[in-house]
Amino acid sequence: MLQSKLFTKTIKELPKDETSFNARQLIRAGFIDKLAAGVYSFLPLGLLVHDKICRIIREEMDAIGGQEILMPALIPKESWAATNRWENFDALFRLIGGDKKEYGLGATHEEVVTPLVKKFIFSYKDLPAAVYQIQTKFRNELRAKAGLIRGREFSMKDLYSFHADEKDLNKFYEIVIKSYFKIFSRCGLGDLTYLTYALGGTFSKYSHEFQTLAKTGEDTIYLCKKCKIAVNKEIIEEQKVCPQCKKKDFVEEKAVEVGNIFKLGTRFSKPFGFSYMDEKGGKQDVIMGCYGLGPSRLMGTVVEVCHDEQGMIWPEEIAPFRVHLIEVRSKEAKVKKETEKLYNDLRKNGVEVLYDDRDEISAGEKFAEADLIGCPYRLVVSEKTLAKDSVEVKKRDKKEVEMVKISEVAKRITNNA
Ligand code: ATP
Ligand code: MG
Repeated sequence: MLQSKLFTKTIKELPKDETSFNARQLIRAGFIDKLAAGVYSFLPLGLLVHDKICRIIREEMDAIGGQEILMPALIPKESWAATNRWENFDALFRLIGGDKKEYGLGATHEEVVTPLVKKFIFSYKDLPAAVYQIQTKFRNELRAKAGLIRGREFSMKDLYSFHADEKDLNKFYEIVIKSYFKIFSRCGLGDLTYLTYALGGTFSKYSHEFQTLAKTGEDTIYLCKKCKIAVNKEIIEEQKVCPQCKKKDFVEEKAVEVGNIFKLGTRFSKPFGFSYMDEKGGKQDVIMGCYGLGPSRLMGTVVEVCHDEQGMIWPEEIAPFRVHLIEVRSKEAKVKKETEKLYNDLRKNGVEVLYDDRDEISAGEKFAEADLIGCPYRLVVSEKTLAKDSVEVKKRDKKEVEMVKISEVAKRITNNA
């Protein structure tokens, strides 16, 4: 993409009421815009990142047999009332339609997915099944002060699984844990994210959270460094030792919950009368699991943990562009001509490039913006580099600058060297 054509620009005046680090960085760099507390627009650069996170999630969900669907956000009161959540779900946005009917905006979708899947599953032969969606969720969060980490409107991937028995649920649950770690690794958070025991299971004693270590995180966890397993502070009273090695060798850390998975058992299948015919012709309740993960929260978390004083440092797989190509303005027409050629070459090689082709901006300003935006590779073309038939290559997370022959650049960038 040509930066001269990008309608957003980096911003110096930030909203005064925005205190979170991730939102301030993302607003400054033109990735998102703030409309109200916990409500943001995604601009071209931000949407590229969000879409890449969603693409990774889709690939990993499809790989474990999840089938993608899209459920409505407008959910009638009756659906929530069936599970007693119309009265009890504090964060539900409630509204009244023109027909005087009441609705709750989708904060989670067990009340929709359970009766939906029930329409198609009758016998043990139809089980197991797993469906997921990536959708905008609404929650009337009291404290929406953490930028993308706690939105009132935010994106969630929610997967729901349906099983004939507990054993089958347990097997799938372990598969989901592995799949989640693949997602977090691909998004650059693998080393910082820990499986964490938490309250909230309706069927099992615990639910499991995926907590990413971050100084600004709202959660406190107790981490067993040896087992790489953590316990949420909310349950530490119940779980005083590491669930794996049984030692009480915990380190206290701040973290962000990027995912949360639950064994639901029959909590939702019972109220909706969702049963199946077993092999002997008997009627059994369907056993369910649900698995949440927030792409927008994940994006905010990456900003909290992957940055330096100059700006963001995007992990390669979710960067808006792989390369930020900078043309240092020059009176010699050759510089623009060679930079354009390189831009086209790289794109022909399948490399995503943001090309700073703007004539009115100084090299220093371009460098500062490139650091702020945080693409993994910065390439600079100037009179000086062209005198050596070269381009200056710098990785965003490294200090060293290297001169690479123009003819070699595409290979270097695609080979990940
Ligand atoms: P929290 O404890 O942080 O309030 P939760 O336990 O209510 O979150 P779940 O209902 O399990 O969250 O939602 C699944 C996932 O959706 C979370 O792990 C998180 O990644 C994301 N998520 C939840 N609430 C928000 C929010 N307000 N803003 C952004 N993402 C969210
Ligand atoms: Mg939670």
